[in-house]
Amino acid sequence: MNSDKISDCNQNDQGSFQKSKRLVILGSTGSIGRQTLEVVKEQDGLDIVALAAGSNTDLMEKQIREFHPAYAVMWEEKAAKELREKVADQNVKILTGMEGLLEISSLEAYDVLVTAIVGMIGIRPTIAAIKAGKTIALANKETLVTAGHIIMPLAKRMGVCILPVDSEHSAIFQSMNGEPRDRIARLWLTASGGPFRGRKREELADVRVEDALKHPNWSMGRKITIDSATMVNKGLEIMEAKWLFQVDYDQIKVVVHPQSIVHSMVEYMDGALIAQLGMPDMKLPIQYALFYPDRRPAEQKKIEISMLSSLTFEEPQWDTFDGLSLALKAGKEGGSMPTVYNAANEKAVSLFLEGRITFLQIPEIIGSCMERHKKIENPDVDQILEVEQEIYEDIMHRFQ
Ligand code: NAD
Ligand code: MG
Repeated sequence: MNSDKISDCNQNDQGSFQKSKRLVILGSTGSIGRQTLEVVKEQDGLDIVALAAGSNTDLMEKQIREFHPAYAVMWEEKAAKELREKVADQNVKILTGMEGLLEISSLEAYDVLVTAIVGMIGIRPTIAAIKAGKTIALANKETLVTAGHIIMPLAKRMGVCILPVDSEHSAIFQSMNGEPRDRIARLWLTASGGPFRGRKREELADVRVEDALKHPNWSMGRKITIDSATMVNKGLEIMEAKWLFQVDYDQIKVVVHPQSIVHSMVEYMDGALIAQLGMPDMKLPIQYALFYPDRRPAEQKKIEISMLSSLTFEEPQWDTFDGLSLALKAGKEGGSMPTVYNAANEKAVSLFLEGRITFLQIPEIIGSCMERHKKIENPDVDQILEVEQEIYEDIMHRFQ
Protein backbone atom coordinates (compact mmCIF):
# COMPACT_ATOMS: atom_id res chain seq x y z
CA MET A 1 0.00 0.00 0.00
CA ASN A 2 1.20 3.49 -0.81
CA SER A 3 2.24 5.09 2.46
CA ASP A 4 3.14 8.45 0.95
CA LYS A 5 2.79 11.08 3.68
CA ILE A 6 0.74 14.14 2.82
CA SER A 7 3.17 16.43 4.50
CA ASP A 8 6.37 15.01 3.12
CA CYS A 9 7.94 17.90 4.98
CA ASN A 10 6.39 16.79 8.26
CA GLN A 11 8.99 16.85 10.98
CA ASN A 12 7.21 16.69 14.31
CA ASP A 13 10.41 16.36 16.18
CA GLN A 14 10.49 19.02 18.89
CA GLY A 15 14.24 19.34 18.63
CA SER A 16 14.19 20.28 14.94
CA PHE A 17 12.16 23.51 15.18
CA GLN A 18 13.99 26.30 13.49
CA LYS A 19 14.34 29.22 15.89
CA SER A 20 14.53 31.95 13.28
CA LYS A 21 13.51 32.28 9.65
CA ARG A 22 14.43 34.78 6.95
CA LEU A 23 11.60 35.78 4.62
CA VAL A 24 11.14 37.15 1.13
CA ILE A 25 7.60 38.50 0.61
CA LEU A 26 6.13 39.01 -2.85
CA GLY A 27 3.13 41.34 -2.63
CA SER A 28 4.08 42.98 0.69
CA THR A 29 1.72 45.93 0.28
CA GLY A 30 -1.37 43.77 -0.29
CA SER A 31 -3.82 42.25 2.15
CA ILE A 32 -1.85 39.03 2.78
CA GLY A 33 1.52 40.83 2.59
CA ARG A 34 0.52 43.39 5.24
CA GLN A 35 -0.85 40.70 7.53
CA THR A 36 2.36 38.70 7.10
CA LEU A 37 4.33 41.75 8.24
CA GLU A 38 2.02 42.07 11.27
CA VAL A 39 2.93 38.49 12.20
CA VAL A 40 6.62 39.36 11.74
CA LYS A 41 6.12 42.28 14.15
CA GLU A 42 4.27 40.23 16.74
CA GLN A 43 6.54 37.18 16.77
CA ASP A 44 10.21 36.72 17.55
CA GLY A 45 12.53 35.06 15.07
CA LEU A 46 11.29 36.34 11.68
CA ASP A 47 13.55 38.58 9.60
CA ILE A 48 12.81 40.27 6.30
CA VAL A 49 15.36 39.89 3.53
CA ALA A 50 13.36 41.28 0.59
CA LEU A 51 9.95 42.79 -0.21
CA ALA A 52 8.20 43.22 -3.56
CA ALA A 53 5.12 45.16 -4.66
CA GLY A 54 3.46 46.67 -7.71
CA SER A 55 3.34 50.46 -7.43
CA ASN A 56 2.56 51.61 -3.86
CA THR A 57 5.81 53.42 -3.04
CA ASP A 58 4.44 55.20 0.06
CA LEU A 59 3.69 51.95 1.83
CA MET A 60 6.87 50.31 0.55
CA GLU A 61 8.88 53.19 1.99
CA LYS A 62 7.24 52.68 5.40
CA GLN A 63 7.89 48.94 5.24
CA ILE A 64 11.56 49.49 4.36
CA ARG A 65 12.04 51.87 7.29
CA GLU A 66 10.34 49.45 9.67
CA PHE A 67 11.66 46.05 8.52
CA HIS A 68 15.03 46.96 6.93
CA PRO A 69 15.07 44.52 3.99
CA ALA A 70 18.29 44.26 1.97
CA TYR A 71 16.24 44.37 -1.27
CA ALA A 72 12.94 45.89 -2.43
CA VAL A 73 11.33 45.36 -5.82
CA MET A 74 8.77 47.65 -7.44
CA TRP A 75 7.18 46.17 -10.54
CA GLU A 76 7.01 49.49 -12.35
CA GLU A 77 10.22 51.24 -13.35
CA LYS A 78 8.73 54.62 -12.51
CA ALA A 79 7.82 53.45 -9.02
CA ALA A 80 11.29 51.98 -8.50
CA LYS A 81 12.84 55.33 -9.44
CA GLU A 82 10.54 57.19 -7.06
CA LEU A 83 11.32 54.71 -4.26
CA ARG A 84 15.09 55.06 -4.77
CA GLU A 85 14.73 58.77 -4.05
CA LYS A 86 12.49 58.24 -1.02
CA VAL A 87 14.82 55.77 0.68
CA ALA A 88 18.18 57.16 -0.44
CA ASP A 89 19.22 57.26 3.25
CA GLN A 90 18.55 53.52 3.70
CA ASN A 91 20.81 50.58 3.02
CA VAL A 92 18.50 48.83 0.54
CA LYS A 93 18.92 47.80 -3.07
CA ILE A 94 15.91 48.70 -5.23
CA LEU A 95 15.18 46.41 -8.16
CA THR A 96 12.42 46.33 -10.73
CA GLY A 97 10.23 44.10 -12.94
CA MET A 98 10.37 40.33 -13.40
CA GLU A 99 14.15 40.44 -13.26
CA GLY A 100 13.93 41.91 -9.76
CA LEU A 101 11.32 39.35 -8.64
CA LEU A 102 13.50 36.49 -9.93
CA GLU A 103 16.61 37.91 -8.29
CA ILE A 104 15.09 38.16 -4.81
CA SER A 105 13.37 34.76 -5.12
CA SER A 106 16.72 33.12 -5.95
CA LEU A 107 18.77 34.79 -3.19
CA GLU A 108 20.87 32.45 -1.15
CA ALA A 109 20.39 34.05 2.25
CA TYR A 110 16.75 33.35 3.06
CA ASP A 111 14.50 30.44 4.08
CA VAL A 112 10.84 31.04 3.11
CA LEU A 113 9.26 32.71 0.07
CA VAL A 114 5.84 34.14 0.95
CA THR A 115 4.05 34.44 -2.35
CA ALA A 116 1.22 36.91 -1.73
CA ILE A 117 1.20 38.47 -5.15
CA VAL A 118 -2.00 38.43 -7.18
CA GLY A 119 -2.19 36.63 -10.54
CA MET A 120 -0.02 34.43 -12.76
CA ILE A 121 2.92 36.81 -12.34
CA GLY A 122 3.74 34.59 -9.35
CA ILE A 123 4.59 31.49 -11.42
CA ARG A 124 8.18 32.30 -12.45
CA PRO A 125 9.41 33.63 -9.08
CA THR A 126 7.90 30.57 -7.35
CA ILE A 127 9.72 28.25 -9.74
CA ALA A 128 12.96 30.17 -9.15
CA ALA A 129 12.56 29.85 -5.37
CA ILE A 130 11.84 26.11 -5.58
CA LYS A 131 14.94 25.65 -7.75
CA ALA A 132 16.90 27.51 -5.07
CA GLY A 133 15.56 24.99 -2.52
CA LYS A 134 13.38 27.45 -0.57
CA THR A 135 10.24 26.62 1.39
CA ILE A 136 7.18 28.21 -0.22
CA ALA A 137 4.37 29.75 1.86
CA LEU A 138 1.79 30.00 -0.88
CA ALA A 139 -1.16 32.41 -0.89
CA ASN A 140 -0.97 33.03 -4.65
CA LYS A 141 -3.37 30.26 -5.69
CA GLU A 142 -3.26 31.28 -9.38
CA THR A 143 0.24 29.78 -9.57
CA LEU A 144 -1.00 26.32 -8.61
CA VAL A 145 -4.26 26.56 -10.55
CA THR A 146 -2.47 27.28 -13.82
CA ALA A 147 0.94 25.65 -13.34
CA GLY A 148 0.34 22.99 -10.66
CA HIS A 149 1.49 20.30 -13.11
CA ILE A 150 4.91 22.04 -13.25
CA ILE A 151 5.22 23.30 -9.66
CA MET A 152 4.30 20.14 -7.72
CA PRO A 153 6.66 17.67 -9.48
CA LEU A 154 9.45 20.26 -9.32
CA ALA A 155 8.91 20.80 -5.58
CA LYS A 156 8.96 17.04 -5.06
CA ARG A 157 12.18 16.67 -7.04
CA MET A 158 13.83 19.49 -5.10
CA GLY A 159 12.51 18.23 -1.74
CA VAL A 160 10.82 21.59 -1.17
CA CYS A 161 7.68 22.09 0.94
CA ILE A 162 4.75 24.05 -0.44
CA LEU A 163 2.93 25.24 2.67
CA PRO A 164 -0.59 26.56 2.08
CA VAL A 165 -1.54 30.02 3.36
CA ASP A 166 -5.08 29.94 1.95
CA SER A 167 -7.23 29.29 5.04
CA GLU A 168 -9.09 26.26 3.63
CA HIS A 169 -5.92 24.56 2.47
CA SER A 170 -4.15 25.36 5.70
CA ALA A 171 -7.08 23.73 7.53
CA ILE A 172 -6.78 20.62 5.36
CA PHE A 173 -3.02 20.55 5.82
CA GLN A 174 -3.43 20.83 9.58
CA SER A 175 -6.11 18.11 9.55
CA MET A 176 -3.91 15.60 7.71
CA ASN A 177 -0.63 16.15 9.47
CA GLY A 178 1.34 12.97 8.99
CA GLU A 179 -1.52 10.82 7.60
CA PRO A 180 -0.77 8.75 4.50
CA ARG A 181 -2.54 10.16 1.46
CA ASP A 182 -4.30 6.95 0.51
CA ARG A 183 -6.29 6.97 3.78
CA ILE A 184 -8.21 10.06 2.64
CA ALA A 185 -11.73 9.55 1.34
CA ARG A 186 -12.71 13.17 0.67
CA LEU A 187 -11.70 16.76 1.27
CA TRP A 188 -14.49 19.13 2.36
CA LEU A 189 -13.76 22.72 1.36
CA THR A 190 -15.91 25.17 3.27
CA ALA A 191 -17.21 28.35 1.60
CA SER A 192 -18.91 31.29 3.29
CA GLY A 193 -21.25 31.69 0.31
CA GLY A 194 -20.26 35.37 0.04
CA PRO A 195 -22.56 38.42 0.23
CA PHE A 196 -25.14 36.97 -2.20
CA ARG A 197 -25.72 33.60 -0.57
CA GLY A 198 -29.35 32.49 -0.88
CA ARG A 199 -30.16 34.85 -3.76
CA LYS A 200 -31.66 33.56 -7.00
CA ARG A 201 -29.85 34.15 -10.28
CA GLU A 202 -32.31 36.87 -11.38
CA GLU A 203 -31.63 38.71 -8.13
CA LEU A 204 -27.97 38.99 -9.13
CA ALA A 205 -28.64 40.76 -12.43
CA ASP A 206 -28.11 44.30 -11.17
CA VAL A 207 -25.89 43.97 -8.09
CA ARG A 208 -23.51 46.88 -7.65
CA VAL A 209 -19.73 46.79 -7.21
CA GLU A 210 -20.06 48.13 -3.63
CA ASP A 211 -22.41 45.27 -2.71
CA ALA A 212 -20.10 42.63 -4.19
CA LEU A 213 -17.19 44.11 -2.23
CA LYS A 214 -18.99 43.62 1.11
CA HIS A 215 -17.78 40.24 2.29
CA PRO A 216 -19.68 39.04 5.37
CA ASN A 217 -16.70 37.49 7.23
CA TRP A 218 -13.30 38.10 5.65
CA SER A 219 -11.41 41.28 4.88
CA MET A 220 -9.37 40.68 1.69
CA GLY A 221 -8.04 42.31 -1.50
CA ARG A 222 -10.63 43.57 -4.02
CA LYS A 223 -10.13 40.88 -6.64
CA ILE A 224 -10.50 37.93 -4.28
CA THR A 225 -13.51 39.60 -2.62
CA ILE A 226 -15.33 39.68 -5.97
CA ASP A 227 -14.21 36.07 -6.53
CA SER A 228 -15.91 35.16 -3.26
CA ALA A 229 -19.15 36.82 -4.37
CA THR A 230 -19.17 34.85 -7.65
CA MET A 231 -17.88 31.65 -5.92
CA VAL A 232 -15.04 31.63 -8.46
CA ASN A 233 -12.69 31.80 -5.47
CA LYS A 234 -13.98 28.41 -4.33
CA GLY A 235 -13.61 27.14 -7.89
CA LEU A 236 -9.95 28.20 -7.90
CA GLU A 237 -9.55 26.61 -4.47
CA ILE A 238 -10.87 23.26 -5.76
CA MET A 239 -8.04 23.27 -8.33
CA GLU A 240 -5.53 24.49 -5.73
CA ALA A 241 -6.53 21.60 -3.42
CA LYS A 242 -6.23 19.06 -6.22
CA TRP A 243 -2.58 20.02 -6.75
CA LEU A 244 -1.58 20.55 -3.14
CA PHE A 245 -3.04 17.30 -1.84
CA GLN A 246 -2.85 15.20 -5.02
CA VAL A 247 -6.44 13.89 -4.91
CA ASP A 248 -8.99 13.36 -7.70
CA TYR A 249 -11.61 16.02 -8.40
CA ASP A 250 -14.32 13.56 -7.33
CA GLN A 251 -12.78 13.53 -3.86
CA ILE A 252 -13.15 17.30 -3.39
CA LYS A 253 -16.48 18.51 -2.03
CA VAL A 254 -17.64 22.06 -1.37
CA VAL A 255 -19.96 22.88 1.50
CA VAL A 256 -21.35 26.31 2.32
CA HIS A 257 -20.72 27.28 5.93
CA PRO A 258 -21.77 30.92 6.41
CA GLN A 259 -20.05 31.42 9.80
CA SER A 260 -16.52 30.72 8.42
CA ILE A 261 -15.43 29.01 11.65
CA VAL A 262 -14.77 25.51 10.28
CA HIS A 263 -12.06 26.29 7.75
CA SER A 264 -12.24 22.90 5.99
CA MET A 265 -12.33 19.18 6.78
CA VAL A 266 -10.73 15.90 5.81
CA GLU A 267 -12.84 12.75 5.71
CA TYR A 268 -10.86 9.53 6.13
CA MET A 269 -11.64 6.05 4.80
CA ASP A 270 -12.91 4.93 8.24
CA GLY A 271 -15.45 7.78 8.35
CA ALA A 272 -13.47 10.01 10.72
CA LEU A 273 -13.94 13.67 9.85
CA ILE A 274 -11.10 15.91 11.05
CA ALA A 275 -11.48 19.67 10.87
CA GLN A 276 -9.58 22.80 11.83
CA LEU A 277 -11.64 25.56 13.42
CA GLY A 278 -10.71 29.14 14.16
CA MET A 279 -11.84 32.73 13.86
CA PRO A 280 -11.87 34.06 10.26
CA ASP A 281 -8.48 35.76 10.47
CA MET A 282 -5.76 35.11 7.88
CA LYS A 283 -3.03 35.70 10.44
CA LEU A 284 -3.54 32.21 11.82
CA PRO A 285 -2.84 30.32 8.56
CA ILE A 286 -0.04 32.78 7.72
CA GLN A 287 1.61 32.22 11.08
CA TYR A 288 1.16 28.45 10.81
CA ALA A 289 2.94 28.40 7.44
CA LEU A 290 5.76 30.64 8.67
CA PHE A 291 6.56 28.54 11.74
CA TYR A 292 5.59 25.09 10.44
CA PRO A 293 5.94 22.51 11.96
CA ASP A 294 5.99 24.59 15.15
CA ARG A 295 3.10 26.53 16.65
CA ARG A 296 3.34 29.87 18.38
CA PRO A 297 0.99 31.69 20.77
CA ALA A 298 -1.10 34.30 18.95
CA GLU A 299 -2.86 37.44 20.10
CA GLN A 300 -5.81 37.10 17.74
CA LYS A 301 -9.34 36.65 19.04
CA LYS A 302 -10.06 32.99 19.82
CA ILE A 303 -13.20 30.92 19.36
CA GLU A 304 -15.63 30.83 22.25
CA ILE A 305 -17.18 27.40 22.58
CA SER A 306 -20.69 28.92 22.64
CA MET A 307 -20.13 29.96 19.01
CA LEU A 308 -20.14 26.32 17.97
CA SER A 309 -23.82 25.85 18.77
CA SER A 310 -24.84 27.88 15.74
CA LEU A 311 -22.69 26.42 12.96
CA THR A 312 -24.59 25.51 9.81
CA PHE A 313 -23.69 23.72 6.58
CA GLU A 314 -25.55 23.67 3.29
CA GLU A 315 -25.17 22.52 -0.32
CA PRO A 316 -23.73 25.19 -2.67
CA GLN A 317 -26.16 26.82 -5.12
CA TRP A 318 -24.67 25.22 -8.22
CA ASP A 319 -27.43 26.62 -10.48
CA THR A 320 -26.92 30.20 -9.35
CA PHE A 321 -23.14 30.38 -9.18
CA ASP A 322 -21.88 29.03 -12.53
CA GLY A 323 -18.30 29.90 -11.59
CA LEU A 324 -18.21 26.81 -9.41
CA SER A 325 -19.28 24.23 -12.01
CA LEU A 326 -17.08 25.89 -14.65
CA ALA A 327 -14.10 25.43 -12.33
CA LEU A 328 -14.75 21.72 -11.99
CA LYS A 329 -15.07 21.48 -15.76
CA ALA A 330 -11.81 23.40 -16.31
CA GLY A 331 -9.99 21.36 -13.68
CA LYS A 332 -11.15 18.01 -15.03
CA GLU A 333 -10.27 18.99 -18.60
CA GLY A 334 -6.85 20.10 -17.37
CA GLY A 335 -4.05 21.26 -19.68
CA SER A 336 -4.44 24.96 -20.47
CA MET A 337 -8.15 25.07 -19.47
CA PRO A 338 -7.55 26.18 -15.84
CA THR A 339 -5.42 29.04 -17.25
CA VAL A 340 -8.34 30.08 -19.46
CA TYR A 341 -10.70 29.93 -16.46
CA ASN A 342 -8.34 32.03 -14.35
CA ALA A 343 -7.33 34.58 -16.99
CA ALA A 344 -10.92 35.10 -18.19
CA ASN A 345 -12.02 35.62 -14.60
CA GLU A 346 -9.22 38.11 -13.89
CA LYS A 347 -10.09 40.23 -16.87
CA ALA A 348 -13.85 39.97 -16.28
CA VAL A 349 -13.42 40.99 -12.63
CA SER A 350 -11.41 44.05 -13.57
CA LEU A 351 -14.08 45.04 -16.13
CA PHE A 352 -16.75 44.55 -13.45
CA LEU A 353 -14.80 46.69 -10.97
CA GLU A 354 -14.59 49.41 -13.64
CA GLY A 355 -18.37 49.25 -14.05
CA ARG A 356 -18.12 48.06 -17.66
CA ILE A 357 -19.89 44.69 -17.34
CA THR A 358 -22.54 43.26 -15.03
CA PHE A 359 -21.99 40.75 -12.25
CA LEU A 360 -23.55 37.87 -14.19
CA GLN A 361 -21.33 38.57 -17.17
CA ILE A 362 -18.32 37.40 -15.15
CA PRO A 363 -19.19 33.67 -15.33
CA GLU A 364 -20.63 34.16 -18.82
CA ILE A 365 -17.27 35.47 -20.06
CA ILE A 366 -15.39 32.62 -18.36
CA GLY A 367 -17.74 30.06 -19.98
CA SER A 368 -17.48 31.59 -23.44
CA CYS A 369 -13.67 31.76 -23.29
CA MET A 370 -13.51 28.11 -22.24
CA GLU A 371 -15.80 27.12 -25.11
CA ARG A 372 -13.72 28.96 -27.71
CA HIS A 373 -10.37 27.70 -26.43
CA LYS A 374 -8.48 24.87 -28.09
CA LYS A 375 -6.88 23.09 -25.17
CA ILE A 376 -3.10 22.62 -24.98
CA GLU A 377 -2.06 19.49 -23.10
CA ASN A 378 0.66 19.91 -20.51
CA PRO A 379 1.50 23.57 -21.29
CA ASP A 380 4.90 24.93 -20.26
CA VAL A 381 5.23 28.31 -18.53
CA ASP A 382 5.60 30.24 -21.80
CA GLN A 383 2.47 28.62 -23.20
CA ILE A 384 0.54 29.34 -20.00
CA LEU A 385 1.48 33.02 -20.18
CA GLU A 386 0.68 33.14 -23.91
CA VAL A 387 -2.78 31.69 -23.26
CA GLU A 388 -3.27 34.27 -20.51
CA GLN A 389 -2.38 37.05 -22.95
CA GLU A 390 -4.64 35.67 -25.72
CA ILE A 391 -7.58 35.51 -23.32
CA TYR A 392 -6.97 39.08 -22.11
CA GLU A 393 -6.82 40.34 -25.68
CA ASP A 394 -9.89 38.38 -26.76
CA ILE A 395 -11.93 39.83 -23.89
CA MET A 396 -10.67 43.39 -24.41
CA HIS A 397 -11.49 43.07 -28.09
CA ARG A 398 -15.05 41.93 -27.34
CA PHE A 399 -15.80 44.39 -24.55
CA GLN A 400 -14.12 47.65 -25.38
P1 NAD B 1 -3.96 42.34 -2.90
O1 NAD B 1 -4.49 42.86 -4.18
O2 NAD B 1 -4.41 42.94 -1.62
O3 NAD B 1 -2.36 42.42 -2.92
C1 NAD B 1 -1.59 42.01 -4.02
C2 NAD B 1 -0.14 42.38 -3.81
O4 NAD B 1 0.60 41.99 -4.97
C3 NAD B 1 0.12 43.89 -3.65
O5 NAD B 1 1.19 44.08 -2.75
C4 NAD B 1 0.55 44.32 -5.05
O6 NAD B 1 1.38 45.47 -5.03
C5 NAD B 1 1.35 43.09 -5.45
N1 NAD B 1 1.51 42.99 -6.90
C6 NAD B 1 0.54 42.93 -7.85
N2 NAD B 1 1.10 42.84 -9.07
C7 NAD B 1 2.43 42.85 -8.88
C8 NAD B 1 3.55 42.77 -9.75
N3 NAD B 1 3.40 42.69 -11.07
N4 NAD B 1 4.79 42.80 -9.21
C9 NAD B 1 4.98 42.89 -7.88
N5 NAD B 1 3.95 42.94 -7.00
C10 NAD B 1 2.71 42.93 -7.51
O7 NAD B 1 -4.23 40.77 -2.91
P2 NAD B 1 -4.44 39.77 -1.68
O8 NAD B 1 -5.87 39.78 -1.29
O9 NAD B 1 -3.41 40.00 -0.65
O10 NAD B 1 -4.20 38.37 -2.39
C11 NAD B 1 -2.90 37.92 -2.77
C12 NAD B 1 -2.99 36.46 -3.14
O11 NAD B 1 -3.38 35.71 -2.00
C13 NAD B 1 -4.02 36.15 -4.23
O12 NAD B 1 -3.55 35.10 -5.01
C14 NAD B 1 -5.23 35.70 -3.44
O13 NAD B 1 -6.06 34.82 -4.17
C15 NAD B 1 -4.56 34.97 -2.28
N6 NAD B 1 -5.35 34.90 -1.05
C16 NAD B 1 -5.74 36.04 -0.41
C17 NAD B 1 -6.48 35.95 0.75
C18 NAD B 1 -6.88 37.19 1.51
O14 NAD B 1 -7.44 37.08 2.59
N7 NAD B 1 -6.61 38.38 1.03
C19 NAD B 1 -6.85 34.69 1.27
C20 NAD B 1 -6.43 33.56 0.60
C21 NAD B 1 -5.67 33.66 -0.56
MG1 MG C 1 -9.54 30.71 0.87
